Amino acid sequence: MSQVYKGVHFIPGQDEFIPDSHVYVLGVPESDDLTIVDVGLTGKGEYKAGSIKKLGIDPAAVKRIIMTHTHLDHIGCLTEMQKAFPSAQLWVHKLEADLLEKGDDRAVYGMDMFKGMCQMQFGLAPDSFKFNVDRKLEGGETLEIGGMVWDVIHIPGHSMGGIALYEPAAKILIPGDVVYADYAIGRFDLFGADASKLKESLGNLAKLDVDILLPGHNQIVKGVPSEYIKRTLKMWEPYLV
Ligand SMILES: [Zn+2]
Ligand SMILES: [Zn+2]
Repeated sequence: MSQVYKGVHFIPGQDEFIPDSHVYVLGVPESDDLTIVDVGLTGKGEYKAGSIKKLGIDPAAVKRIIMTHTHLDHIGCLTEMQKAFPSAQLWVHKLEADLLEKGDDRAVYGMDMFKGMCQMQFGLAPDSFKFNVDRKLEGGETLEIGGMVWDVIHIPGHSMGGIALYEPAAKILIPGDVVYADYAIGRFDLFGADASKLKESLGNLAKLDVDILLPGHNQIVKGVPSEYIKRTLKMWEPYLV
């Protein structure tokens, strides 16, 4: 666990056969109002919760878990994390929240073949991804949380209810799996994905001034070159139709 910026901690994912998403903890410690962004793959709760507690964070200070989207590599250990942080609410974009509340796990597994494989690998029961969502985000909200201000931006394309969190003062962007370091973008072939919406979402992110990029996987980037997302979009544009 390392501090990326005052009020932003980074816990790297521990990939195994399947990727495990990074976790970010937002909020200045003295606020007692902390937010976990994404939790990670099934089985990684002990590692993630342990990393957070090692910082000396009181579990009761964790007030919410916000999902950038609900793919298994981001939401897999949610039950484990809810046990570790019992006062945390769950905030998800409404399009994926509605599915979670019905126990519709198509957005979690992304494809049927992957569902069967993961259920076997992790011993998951068919109803493992039914959750009550405390706040359904839509995009356009300004969240004043943990002594910081974060804008919520709906960025569909990789998944239907994907969101980014953007902190305009320090120019920090948390885009989930929509854009990564090294000019990479998220896949757009799973359930709920849409190449043309991904293009539009990248276009919206390209309008932001970004200095620190905190994606769901791989490297985090400090000192993002100017027009980085715009150039990334340009490279991928021919495929996003
Ligand atoms: Zn994803
Ligand atoms: Zn991911």
